[in-house]
Amino acid sequence: MIPYGRQSISQADIDAVVATLRSDFLTQGPAVDRFEERVAAYCGAAGAVAVSSATAALHIACLAAGLGKGDLCWTSPNSFVASANCAVYCGADVDFVDIAPDTYNMDAAALERKLAAAKRLGRLPKVVIPVHFSGQACRMDAIGQLAARYGFTVIEDASHAIGARFAGDTIGGCRHSAMTVFSFHPVKIITTGEGGIITTNDPALRRRLLRLRSHGITRDPADMDGGTAAASSAGQLDDPWYYQQVELGFNYRMTDIQAALGTSQLERVDVFVARRAEIAAAYDRLLADLAVIRPARDPDARSSHHLYAIQLDAAAGARRARRDVFRGLRARGVGVNVHYIPIPTQPFYRRRGFSPESVPVALAYYQNAITLPLHAAMTDGDVKTVVAALEAEL
Ligand SMILES: *Cc1c(COP(=O)(O)O)cnc(C)c1O
Repeated sequence: MIPYGRQSISQADIDAVVATLRSDFLTQGPAVDRFEERVAAYCGAAGAVAVSSATAALHIACLAAGLGKGDLCWTSPNSFVASANCAVYCGADVDFVDIAPDTYNMDAAALERKLAAAKRLGRLPKVVIPVHFSGQACRMDAIGQLAARYGFTVIEDASHAIGARFAGDTIGGCRHSAMTVFSFHPVKIITTGEGGIITTNDPALRRRLLRLRSHGITRDPADMDGGTAAASSAGQLDDPWYYQQVELGFNYRMTDIQAALGTSQLERVDVFVARRAEIAAAYDRLLADLAVIRPARDPDARSSHHLYAIQLDAAAGARRARRDVFRGLRARGVGVNVHYIPIPTQPFYRRRGFSPESVPVALAYYQNAITLPLHAAMTDGDVKTVVAALEAEL
């Protein structure tokens, strides 16, 4: 089976992990700080906070943005459920902004219309989470302008998009957002096994994220509650063992083993993205005459090509149902997938009152969508195998 995505592990990656296993720290050691510095420098952000997954990253990013009960968070329906669940964890309400029919990203024009209507109703979102679907950035310039006009916080879900750019800016530099989240699950561009990171230019947000990552505990007297009797009876702020839990946090830490792998992988991110771009360009060429709709390219966005998602095109002569084409491709050893079942169609969200009809563009895209295999270790022969199998199944 040619998988739709998989990791590429080098001898250098293995050596980095082994060296960490032989070192003094398996967690809470220097490898995490180093990985955070490297990711921040790569993205052009002031700082980063590494965590156990992108799901954890989205959760504490929402908390750091002040999202809580009674607040509203908007995201894309064409995403993994974690993009919406993070707001539910905070007790907030979620809503979905439909996608653009060509890029499958949150549609900035739909966002603008929804914001104008929400303003009239007095129900504006506190947080908006655009998702850079397939590694191609959303129109961050337009979304940033709307954030300034309507006063919401932008958290970019860039789980697909390390190594991507928008209008010359590396994604993660947070030019148009407060925070950007990346995932290092093995199907993503670079991996730490499980893992995620948040980049930000705001030092106060970074301190808050560090605290939320580790139980809500601080060892920095500047962040402590110095005035309570509890503080004075429990210890002095400058006692060397002293710490305070000042809010409810989590154990969302990344280990040094993961961080060492991440730092080693990051050295090859541009190589991975370049190879993915070659494969995507080959698909663009080889699929040109088939009855499929190829992914549209925004000329301002340089994609990291996490996914190559096509739609079967009945108008151009695709005869068979998506279900049959999908099964046929799997039977031929082509590990196709579907990204994504629109989040509002999930039973959990239906019970919260959502209906698929609220996001007609995401639903129409989903009904014909198939994700073809795409990862850095694929050969040119693999690409031809996939295209030949698709041609036979259409
Ligand atoms: C993979 C993914 C996540 C979750 O990432 P984990 O690291 O597995 O928690 C969130 N959002 C999107 C868009 C993803 O693709």
